Amino acid sequence: MTGAVSFHFDDGHNSHYRVLLPLFKKYGFVGSLSLIADEKRGMGFEKARMMQDEGWEILCHSKTHIKMDAPSAIDLAETEIAEAKRILEENGLHTRQYVTPMSEAHESLLPILKEHFDAAFTVYTNALTVPLPDLLEEMPLSPYRLHRACMKELPLERLIEMADYACDSGKWLVFYDHDIGYSTNVTEQILDGLLAHCKERGIPVLTSTEGLKRFA
Ligand SMILES: [Zn+2]
Repeated sequence: MTGAVSFHFDDGHNSHYRVLLPLFKKYGFVGSLSLIADEKRGMGFEKARMMQDEGWEILCHSKTHIKMDAPSAIDLAETEIAEAKRILEENGLHTRQYVTPMSEAHESLLPILKEHFDAAFTVYTNALTVPLPDLLEEMPLSPYRLHRACMKELPLERLIEMADYACDSGKWLVFYDHDIGYSTNVTEQILDGLLAHCKERGIPVLTSTEGLKRFA
């Protein structure tokens, strides 16, 4: 089986609407936005709905972006998981997957994640230090312990190498980052190069749901 890549962009930055929507469109691809339900700044729900209408997928990224890695996180579950989903849905944003803040979720949250979502990205793996094969998860995937590879600080050559490796090894690689071009985050130019490479090599660029369906 051919592998595939997906792209997540976290925290609802304006640059996602301004930069990513036209950039991905240029190649006929879409990505996924992980949105904080309480987020009043950034792109806001209206622009997110416009991206959803263009085929972008919405992921739930908690209500207030609080860290949820301690046993006490269970006290936050109703607000940060169930209510966050409710807020997004009430604003016309359909969400079937969860991205835990800082990619860390205490195991006590698993039952409530399973109750509300089909999958959850809850594991942090450092894409700068972890060897390439270890960045890609073993099959079958564990849908509530999914991890992603942050594009921050990585040069285009390395990102291409990662996408090629995923494709050739028949695995699913989920890239992510935040505000485009901020500090050491991935830039529009690097993303452009990576998407062009995926297009040219025929590496499938899937939404998170498509990836889950194909690989889990
Ligand atoms: Zn975040």
